[in-house]
Amino acid sequence: MDSSRRDFLRAAVGVTSGTALGGLAGLGASLAPTLARAQELRIKDAKTTPSICPYCSVGCATLVHTVDGKIVNIEGDLRSPHNEGTLCPKGAATYQLHINPNRPTKVLHRAPGATDWEEWDLERAMDRVAELVKKTRDETFIERATSGKLVNMTPAIFSLGGATLDIEWNHIQQKLMRGLGIVAIENQARI
Ligand code: SF4
Repeated sequence: MDSSRRDFLRAAVGVTSGTALGGLAGLGASLAPTLARAQELRIKDAKTTPSICPYCSVGCATLVHTVDGKIVNIEGDLRSPHNEGTLCPKGAATYQLHINPNRPTKVLHRAPGATDWEEWDLERAMDRVAELVKKTRDETFIERATSGKLVNMTPAIFSLGGATLDIEWNHIQQKLMRGLGIVAIENQARI
């Protein structure tokens, strides 16, 4: 097999296994100018707004690009002295916090023992959560420890935060949980 045919096949594998760019890379072509150009086109007429990654207290600086009020890109801000244009994987995916067609937008409830999910409206779900929190807290509240020390807590409710909770949400979550007397509070951002 001559070199050009082998190179063509390698490029074709790259195309069928993912992208045309993969095929070009297989031929040894540098993709940097192409990617830079694609990025340049995407944000060509965009408005740039400096912002901060919402996820953790590192507070990496970002640039948010918008076209007609819609976000088209979010990337690290090179001018930031502490992230220097870089973002961790979570911060780099901030775009998908805003734009994500796979994101569920309805509350789904699966009753105990049921095999199917049922769509609930938000009001109903919030009422149910509040009802269960109150019932559990009332049934398990401990005002004083056996030593007599005032503790005002419930050991029966646990708060587990997720990676997409932002700093402001975590602040309010802490206030609410502590106010209810919940002490088992955990989050990937270590609030
Ligand atoms: S989550 Fe990542 S990108 Fe965001 S502020 Fe923290 S370290 Fe920076």
